[in-house]
Amino acid sequence: MNYKTVEMQGRKRIALVAHDHKKRDLLEWARYNRAVLVEHDLCATGTTGSLVQEELGLAVTRLQSGPLGGDQQIGAKIAEGEIDLVIFFWDPLEPQPHDPDVKALLRIAVVWNIPVACNRSTADFMISSSLIHDCYDRVLPDYEEYRQRLKQGA
Ligand code: PGA
Repeated sequence: MNYKTVEMQGRKRIALVAHDHKKRDLLEWARYNRAVLVEHDLCATGTTGSLVQEELGLAVTRLQSGPLGGDQQIGAKIAEGEIDLVIFFWDPLEPQPHDPDVKALLRIAVVWNIPVACNRSTADFMISSSLIHDCYDRVLPDYEEYRQRLKQGA
């Protein structure tokens, strides 16, 4: 398979999602890292976004609440090339009504080689990397081969 690169700009487009029992965790993390987050463009699922906006005073583009389609909206934005990083504190101890959407979001992030932090320590490593401010060449499989597969009689 061939590969290609897509350049991420210094100013990142960051998606934030936290399940209900993880919202405090995400808010504490975001408060601690507020000075860095304010330099980037944030979007979030509905309730997570409201909390980040109200408690931290950060500008956030709010999507639907996760169970109402917000996770799918973030997945669609990834596929459209509109998201650079995902901070996704999902809850490993609670079943979620939108579990298929959670899985779909994690999957599409891997398809497009998007960094995803699923817990606080990963988010700490991500946000303290110099790459958070630098341009970065994201390497992707060249999916053109995949798109053309049936035409080649595969
Ligand atoms: P919420 O959605 O931010 O609207 O609570 C998060 C989720 O459950 O995916």
